[in-house]
Amino acid sequence: MTDGHDHDGDPSDDRTPGVPRLGRDEQPAVYGPDYDDAAERPVDPVSRADCPTEAAGEPVADGGESAGGAPSGLQADGGTAATGGDDLDPANYDAVDVFDGGALDLRDGSDSCYKCTSCDTSCPVAEVDDSFPGPKFQGPEQWRLKRKEDHDIDASITDCSNCMRCDDACPSSVPLSQMHNEARGEFVAEQMAKLSTEYVRNRILSNYRFFAAIASKTPRLANFVTGLGVTKWVGEKLLGITSEREFPDFAQQTFREWWRDRGGARVENPDERVAYFHGCYSNYNTPEVGKAMVRVYESFGYEVMVPPQKCSGTPMFANGMLDDARRHAETNVESLVAAIGDGADIIASCTSCSLSLRQEYPELFDLHGIDDVAEHTFEALEYLRIHEDIDAALADADVDERAFAYHAPCHARNQGLARQAIEAFDAVEDVTVEDVGDSCSGISGTYGWKAEKYDYSMEIGAEMFEHMEAAEGEVGMTECPTCAMQMEHGTGYEVQHPLQLLEAALVD
Ligand code: SF4
Ligand code: SF4
Repeated sequence: MTDGHDHDGDPSDDRTPGVPRLGRDEQPAVYGPDYDDAAERPVDPVSRADCPTEAAGEPVADGGESAGGAPSGLQADGGTAATGGDDLDPANYDAVDVFDGGALDLRDGSDSCYKCTSCDTSCPVAEVDDSFPGPKFQGPEQWRLKRKEDHDIDASITDCSNCMRCDDACPSSVPLSQMHNEARGEFVAEQMAKLSTEYVRNRILSNYRFFAAIASKTPRLANFVTGLGVTKWVGEKLLGITSEREFPDFAQQTFREWWRDRGGARVENPDERVAYFHGCYSNYNTPEVGKAMVRVYESFGYEVMVPPQKCSGTPMFANGMLDDARRHAETNVESLVAAIGDGADIIASCTSCSLSLRQEYPELFDLHGIDDVAEHTFEALEYLRIHEDIDAALADADVDERAFAYHAPCHARNQGLARQAIEAFDAVEDVTVEDVGDSCSGISGTYGWKAEKYDYSMEIGAEMFEHMEAAEGEVGMTECPTCAMQMEHGTGYEVQHPLQLLEAALVD
């Protein structure tokens, strides 16, 4: 990987032992687009050059082993698909698209499933909602049904919160969340009534950025209106948005307005540049997180760029709004590819945004430069731990005594970042950051905002609330803005981002 910051080889080797080079325990299996014409398929000149099977014209899985007759274009990073018996032998079916008109063919992934049910036992929604059939059904079983005949997608796909915990749980690298996203996209496009309350509500929740941009023109008025009881009552009765939650306040000045008024970057350093993907929430609701990012990175000598950007697509994936997500992804990828061309790596302060750019974009869209964007994207603390000696910097920090109850978001776990905040602040005198366990917070972005899901959301979050209250600190900490909402909602605690503690410790 080229990152532009390898000062003397790989800094992760000598400065931060134990921190994965890419911050991931394991590269998730990514199944690429099914190219109709073999000539369209990009060929890696290094891995293919010496391959006798490829030279003979046979399709090869990326792990370097024969895919056993699988259609060309299927890729299985880092492993060979299990065949699961004769009836699941890829040689026994025709090479046609499973989802009519779909760009992806995930049959190879469904054949890797050997029904161990690890994914089902890891699913927080299945644990509390008896009507939800779980990830095994939503993923490999639906894909198998699609192969036999043109089955409709089961409506329960919309009950999946897209927490993506099942991806981590699967020992066979079945691309579960990719299957769910594809199936949900097809269900919403072809089976969901476009005039139904559910569709309208989900479209509104997915396009938070659109409404936040309008509300931020007059934030005081917007905060007043959204705080009214009648607004919440109407929201629940007409749209099915729960009235149990407080709408988040809009900041008086967005992050981008602050950045413009500040005059942009105060450090120029063409050799160490980062492009900040702030996402919607840091821009419209918590600009203090974005400001902390800029100040911390500038204190290490980085030049910060703030490229044009739209929503990462996270709430759109969760609601099957793939056309909306693709539109936003096109802008983001074009803009971020240009930043990479200027020598920058991409830094996100929200772990769902970084996961979206790293995993969901290349899994779901075929856009020019998308793999470069995925390869160059990092979460903010992760990147500093790879490239800087954070332990030494924090060892000299003078911070007032404080204690935090830390929750690792599910999407941070997917990137191998579950322990990063605990480890980073471990040696800081007078600071305690206590892990409140590995449960899901329950809100999963828009899931906990749906009236019919609110009780499930709180039931899933109960363990986290209990552990937060048992922890020493009465301030929460997490990298995900909607987990922060849920932590605050369930305990009444103020919640901060690790970047804010870094700013307090390292920036004068
Ligand atoms: S993404 Fe989360 S909610 Fe959806 S099936 Fe997987 S574990 Fe369950
Ligand atoms: S964890 Fe993986 S292999 Fe096991 S049932 Fe789920 S999808 Fe299949």
